[in-house]
Amino acid sequence: MLAVCAESCKLAAELIKKGEIVAFPTETVYGLGANAYDTDAVAKIFVAKNRPHDNPLIVHVATTEQVAEFAYVNEFARKTMETFLPGSLTVVLPKKSTIPSAVTAGFETVAVRIPLSKEARMFLSECSVPVCAPSANTSTRPSPTRAKDVFEDLQGKIPLILCGKDCDVGIESTVLDLTSDTPTILRPGVVTKSVLERGLGISVRDFSAENKKVNSPGLRYKHYAPSVPVLLNTNGDVVKVVEKIDELHKSYDKIALFADSDVCDRVMHKINGQELLIEVLPPTAEGVAERIFALFRDYEKRCQAIVMVFEDKSEFGRSVLNRLMKSCGSHTF
Ligand code: AMP
Ligand code: MG
Repeated sequence: MLAVCAESCKLAAELIKKGEIVAFPTETVYGLGANAYDTDAVAKIFVAKNRPHDNPLIVHVATTEQVAEFAYVNEFARKTMETFLPGSLTVVLPKKSTIPSAVTAGFETVAVRIPLSKEARMFLSECSVPVCAPSANTSTRPSPTRAKDVFEDLQGKIPLILCGKDCDVGIESTVLDLTSDTPTILRPGVVTKSVLERGLGISVRDFSAENKKVNSPGLRYKHYAPSVPVLLNTNGDVVKVVEKIDELHKSYDKIALFADSDVCDRVMHKINGQELLIEVLPPTAEGVAERIFALFRDYEKRCQAIVMVFEDKSEFGRSVLNRLMKSCGSHTF
């Protein structure tokens, strides 16, 4: 691990140009990067993460000018990128043949992002080649939002982790498909439908909110799950939460409750002296997103089951819920 600075970014870029893979911070989650033009380097990402080969990677660059090297950029795509990038938005564009199909899992499209994080862009500008990068975790595990989470999953498997700030968004970028007539959200994130519609002046379809088979391949797999079960309640019904905790106590000694301060208080009044680890969640969806994956990683070492209450119905709250539903394997009560 090396702290992000001009020198370490140069070293990291040298490794990328030599065909190695390097983990780096972004504002969403830590990424695991390779030279997107080097098929052997790209293959190393899939091995290190144990990632299914049909799950394509997002190509990261430092400036919009680089995008035309490997993707067809029409007027609307240019406007979208100018409006939202750098930022926590990934746009899906028609790919050029310069990008190997290993990056795009055989698709004729390529996903592109310019991170907002200055640390990420410092590294990317040193690389000079586009860097394809999924999240820097073992597949299925909670995404890494701190350098130590990357270390936990990938130590011994990659030559360098650039150690930067903890991620302040905390969940992955919004994925917006620009290859059909209507811009379509494939994966929700902090750049929400209404933010996109306001910025672009046209209506946007949210495919991720429709209960249909998704055409973003990565969304099919188990994701974001800690090693202990997560049971999710989305309506704040304290009676049900207490019942669930009682039921779990029949099988487990150490149970954790993640909820806002009001729900935590009300549950504490109702349980009778049973041991319960309490994590009071921040009051906003933004606060929860920033911490949730790190909390899953910390608590899987301390408890045998996590009961989580998340009731936020805001637009970004629904993006966070999209991840939580996967963390809990859709085990809601
Ligand atoms: P990750 O880097 O782990 O967040 O995964 C990248 C996400 O981007 C996955 O959900 C992919 O399915 C999605 N993605 C990458 N490339 C494409 C593409 N060409 N078309 C649609 N979705 C994509
Ligand atoms: Mg991921």
